Amino acid sequence: MRRRLIFTSGAGVLGVAVVNTLTGCSTTDATTPSPETSGKSGAVSGGTPNGVVGDWQRVNLDFVSVYLLIRGNEIAVVDTGTSSAPPDIEAGLKAAGHGWDAVKHVIVTHQHQDHAGGLAGVAPAINGTIYTGAGEVEAITASKPLKGLQDGEEVFGLRIVGTPGHTAGHISVFEPDTGVLVAGDALNNMGQLTGANPQYTADMAAAAASVKKLATLDVKAILPGHGEPLTTGASDALQKLAASL
Ligand SMILES: [Zn+2]
Repeated sequence: MRRRLIFTSGAGVLGVAVVNTLTGCSTTDATTPSPETSGKSGAVSGGTPNGVVGDWQRVNLDFVSVYLLIRGNEIAVVDTGTSSAPPDIEAGLKAAGHGWDAVKHVIVTHQHQDHAGGLAGVAPAINGTIYTGAGEVEAITASKPLKGLQDGEEVFGLRIVGTPGHTAGHISVFEPDTGVLVAGDALNNMGQLTGANPQYTADMAAAAASVKKLATLDVKAILPGHGEPLTTGASDALQKLAASL
């Protein structure tokens, strides 16, 4: 199967490539939007022009996304997709005018294979630090050591927010300067903003508490692991969701 790979950034679509689709996933393929539907996400705005503070780029792997947070000549990659994702991440870096050498930080939100699986290819390619939640470190295999992060720690101007529930050590990444929230699987936006998917979530009560915690942040854009980035009305949608849990 062939599919279109669409890179979305705050500044719009940076590039479209045709790549071989990846195989296997632990999440809801059936509800995955078609590539054509995903393509519409190219119209989203909310970031700032390439290379400026606040710029982000989505590497849309159809059922899961990797996000590149580009700050000057340095990039933080949040989540790594499955084991077949690294070539797509590399294409995303190139579309943004960069390469692996710009990646100084890789932050994995949690241990699930559709988020951590790409580390097999990403770890050897980069000269930077790999982080995950302190509670996830032991569950993730990588060829380089992972640095465990606690709630409230800062990396590259990004605040780590402990969001347990989906997994015990799940973390989200929030940038106070821009209001960008990379939520991993603490939030989904497949059709509408929801909390963690009960089908794959270890502790729904903890996950609900984490959504309420995220709702206390001054969020301007939500970049979820699954579904579309939410760049308008993100705060309102998050408040509403938190109130419903
Ligand atoms: Zn997950």
